[in-house]
Amino acid sequence: MTPSRFNGKAPVLGLLLLLGGSASSQTPDAIHGAPATQTPAPDTTSRWLHATHVFDGVTMHDDGWVLVRGKHIVTAVYGQKPPTEGTPVLDFPGCTLLPGLIEGHSHLFLHPYNETSWDDQVTKESRAERTARAVTHAQATLMAGFTTVRDLGTEGCWYDDVGLKHAIEKGVIPGPRMLCATRAIVATGSYGVKSESSDLDLPKGAAEVDGVEGMMHEVRVQIGKGADVIKVYADYRWGPHDEAEPTFTVDELKAAVAVASSSGRIVVVHSTTKEGMLRAIQAGVTTIEHGQGGDDTVFRLMKEKGIALCPTVSAGEAISSYHGWRKGIDPDPISVVRAKKSFSQALASGVTILMGGDVGVFTHGDNAREMETMVEYGMSPLAVLQSATSVNARVFGLNELGNIKARYLADIIIVQGDPTRDIHTVRALRMVMKDGVIYKLATNTP
Ligand SMILES: [Zn+2]
Repeated sequence: MTPSRFNGKAPVLGLLLLLGGSASSQTPDAIHGAPATQTPAPDTTSRWLHATHVFDGVTMHDDGWVLVRGKHIVTAVYGQKPPTEGTPVLDFPGCTLLPGLIEGHSHLFLHPYNETSWDDQVTKESRAERTARAVTHAQATLMAGFTTVRDLGTEGCWYDDVGLKHAIEKGVIPGPRMLCATRAIVATGSYGVKSESSDLDLPKGAAEVDGVEGMMHEVRVQIGKGADVIKVYADYRWGPHDEAEPTFTVDELKAAVAVASSSGRIVVVHSTTKEGMLRAIQAGVTTIEHGQGGDDTVFRLMKEKGIALCPTVSAGEAISSYHGWRKGIDPDPISVVRAKKSFSQALASGVTILMGGDVGVFTHGDNAREMETMVEYGMSPLAVLQSATSVNARVFGLNELGNIKARYLADIIIVQGDPTRDIHTVRALRMVMKDGVIYKLATNTP
């Protein structure tokens, strides 16, 4: 078995045979890409994964043995070889085994703005093209070791994220688990493609609402359409000089939280201004995205109320680079200076920090960029790894994910090296497993 043969698009049926499973013991939908054509029998394939280190979502262990059966983790043993007779063992010397990474803020229906501007994606690309792109983005995300994404708005593709999620769940296409927001909810007049001409009614790329009634109705519609989370813009660039200013009132935001929480869902708020963040905090949302307008007072309040921050620092850098900034050569632009300052204030405050890059603004599959930038901005690699696994899972209510624990789902990645020492090693993937199915494998086993 040569590593190159099994990089990326390995023939999975052959893989399963090599791993000791038999083709007939695999249910059709355990093999990615093959639609289920009969009632699947439970997959009872077992295998041990043995790695030099295991990051369990919280801490590092040496000499880790993890037993996977079907789609679940059966046990994790550290520091001693368990009895493995009769069960295949995959050895990963010099490697670290981790929970599948959780992308906290993606847009699978967007691609980088230096390829095509947001306006042009929303007005000139058909939904068929955008869905075709989303399919490739989903595959790239999974192959980069991100086995779950919280996808925060289709930006003009209506509820197509829910359809994409179903296609992945049915095994039609490979991709991560998805938490879908469907359409972002924005205040009338604040968002979307803008024109000097008031005669034109241009696409908004989101759901415009007004008032408590309007907000409650839209949240209920989205829940009915399959939204897992509700995304609301608490501010946007609609000031007199295109600066970010608050949009919804506290009462409107509270209405979104009341309906969403009544249905067991969380509200996610986009906010870059201090006032927008303060209103979101008062409304009792669960996470605030971006948050560059935050200061010590804001982050202390968030911590007190148990509201998490998803700082999306690499998207800010990406947008600056699309405007000509050369990272490491030019001085930091004001937006990056501001992001670094608020990030360090957030870190010092002890507010819960999520890992989510706003990927889509930059290339899908390059999700690790956010983890690297968080380390650059002062967070320890261990804390970043916790954010991308157990912390994201807890805040998003994913009770069987983000940890290497018995009875948890077998979403597991293995990387060469030790990412708690060098975060870049999360890119050195040796294995990607989701639901116990291996999507990428490169071992040294002869
Ligand atoms: Zn976003």
